[in-house]
Amino acid sequence: MSDLTDLGVAAIRDGVRAGSFSACDVADAFIVNVSKAKALNAFLVETPEHAIAAATAADTARAAGETLKALAGVPIGMKDLFCTNGVVTTAASRILEGFVPPYESRVSQNLWDAGAGMLGKLNMDQFAMGSSNETSAFGNVISPWRRANGDTAPLAPGGSSGGSSSAVAARLCPAATGTDTGGSIRQPAAFTGITGIKPTYGRCSRWGTIAFASSLDQAGPMARDVRDCAILLEAMAGFDARDATSLKLDVPQWEAGLSGDLSGKRVGIPKEYRVDGMPAEIEALWQQGIDWMKDAGAEIVEISLPHTKYALPAYYIIAPAEASSNLARYDGVRYGLRDLPEGAGLQDMYAATRAEGFGDEVKRRILIGTYVLSAGFYDAYYTQAQKVRALIARDFEQAFERCDVLLTPTAPSAAFALGEKQADPIAMYLNDVFTVPSSLAGLPAMSVPGGLDKDGLPLGLQIIGRPLDEQGVLNAGLAIEQRAGFVARPGVWW
Ligand code: GLN
Repeated sequence: MSDLTDLGVAAIRDGVRAGSFSACDVADAFIVNVSKAKALNAFLVETPEHAIAAATAADTARAAGETLKALAGVPIGMKDLFCTNGVVTTAASRILEGFVPPYESRVSQNLWDAGAGMLGKLNMDQFAMGSSNETSAFGNVISPWRRANGDTAPLAPGGSSGGSSSAVAARLCPAATGTDTGGSIRQPAAFTGITGIKPTYGRCSRWGTIAFASSLDQAGPMARDVRDCAILLEAMAGFDARDATSLKLDVPQWEAGLSGDLSGKRVGIPKEYRVDGMPAEIEALWQQGIDWMKDAGAEIVEISLPHTKYALPAYYIIAPAEASSNLARYDGVRYGLRDLPEGAGLQDMYAATRAEGFGDEVKRRILIGTYVLSAGFYDAYYTQAQKVRALIARDFEQAFERCDVLLTPTAPSAAFALGEKQADPIAMYLNDVFTVPSSLAGLPAMSVPGGLDKDGLPLGLQIIGRPLDEQGVLNAGLAIEQRAGFVARPGVWW
């Protein structure tokens, strides 16, 4: 039999059900891969006992002739933004070092209720702020990919869900959770040749997920293919009364609804996404994607999203504003790190703890956020950004009068080398140019691998859908997947 770690979620689920292999054998195979891949620094905490317990439950249920749960026997990786009961959760920040949540996030609970097991907690950009995983307080995640030209410079796995992308691409887990505030599922998926979907805002409960920017944060799956994403999203999503923005809707049967036939569908191509300086290879892949959509039966329409150029500036006001408020709770009193200098008072303790506990990028966001919310600047920045956000959402609404989904590149570049953009935060922010607008509008969006660049690195195509039309997004993604035939994978060097 082929290596069990080559199997994705559907294949593991089906194989365990059919008795082709045991869930414990699957868990063991991934645990071995995780233990051999320390060089990637994808895991902050390894929890083999959790994965084995879930696998044992699956095998026992099968032996007893019981109906197996949706994810029975499937071990996954959990981004460290999700609080996990009894398992250290830090959001890759020193300020939460040693924090052991006494509760489980709703998304992770949903996955365990569906029978999944946890291989460990995945490294990420600190508090999910970043696009390269370099803001983690516990060291960069390294992409398993290397350039084909013999250049062994370590590459960014994307961010902020870079532990998730690296682990899935390197076969350390068949799938992982991610979160996406401005692109953190889609951009790392694109950089590592995997698939990831951010659902409509409100589909997945934010309860127990460490908050970055609450009006934008959404959880979603990262996996090898579209079907695996559909299966996982079905388990992750659902109404939760503990999240005031959770949507009170039934979870559709996305897997059962999968179809790569796009007859009668219209695919919009936003002309403003042809940005200056985009590599010709990405243009070419986009054109290839358009041809694949046509081949799948879709009609192509050019559409306009005129406020696109304001999306990044608006996002980099709104997200830090919300972050500055959300991160006020880290004060050294309630969780994690406490720095209490000799003879210090309460204010000194707050200041010392926050100075010591937060990384530079997190501090930068708190400074920006506090500034744009301050009395004299609120209207000039925050109110203005909110107005722009409304205009961006309206652009999409108007576009969706003429088409069903949009097709764009996921990111304006392939994976860059670690360190390449670290000195210039703006250069890093620019990498989010294609993912941020749909986040501001709360729309479902996914990245699927389309091909490789001249250096042999993966490039992703993004599908953006109408609110609640994850099915349309998944189906367009499937149409690409069926035509791209993307089978490239990184060679094992770690
Ligand atoms: N790269 C973006 C940022 O740094 C998006 C992060 C995310 O989606 N969590 O804010």
